[in-house]
Amino acid sequence: MYTGNCYIWRAVMKRDLGIARCGLACCLCSENDHCGGCNSGDCPGTDFCENRPCSMEKGIEHCYECEETCEKGMLAKIKPYGFTLFVQRYGEAELLDCLERNEKSGIVYHREGIIGDYDDFDDVEELIRFIKTGSPLS
Ligand code: SF4
Ligand code: SF4
Repeated sequence: MYTGNCYIWRAVMKRDLGIARCGLACCLCSENDHCGGCNSGDCPGTDFCENRPCSMEKGIEHCYECEETCEKGMLAKIKPYGFTLFVQRYGEAELLDCLERNEKSGIVYHREGIIGDYDDFDDVEELIRFIKTGSPLS
C-alpha cells in the first residue's frame, strides 16, 4: 500500500493465516500474498528452519505449546520469541487482536524487508508491553 511520500508495507491482516509455529505473524507478513503460511511449506525459511520440524516431531502446532525453555532457531530473535511468550500468557486470539489494532493505528509489522516496529527491542518484557498497549512508553 502506498501511504504517502515513501512506500511502506501496510498489511491487511489475513487473520486465518494466524501465527506461525515459531511465533512469526504469517497473518501480517509482507510475503503472504504468495505464501500460504508456515504449514504450507511456502515460507522462505522452511529449508533451514529448526522450529517447524522440531514442533512437528513433538506433535504440536506451535512452539508456544512446548514445555521446553527454548531459544532455538527463530526463537533466538526477539519478535518471534516475544510473540511466543505473549501467546503463552494471554492466548493467540489476544495476540491477533492486539496486532490488528496496532496495525490499524500505524504500527508496522514489516517496514524494511522482514524488519518492522516489533523488532526494535532488546527487552522482551518491553516488547510484550508494546504489543499490549501499542505504545513503547506506557
Ligand atoms: S521460520 Fe519456520 S516456523 Fe517460522 S514461519 Fe517459517 S517455516 Fe514456519
Ligand atoms: S523445543 Fe523449541 S523449537 Fe522445538 S517445539 Fe519446543 S519451543 Fe519449538
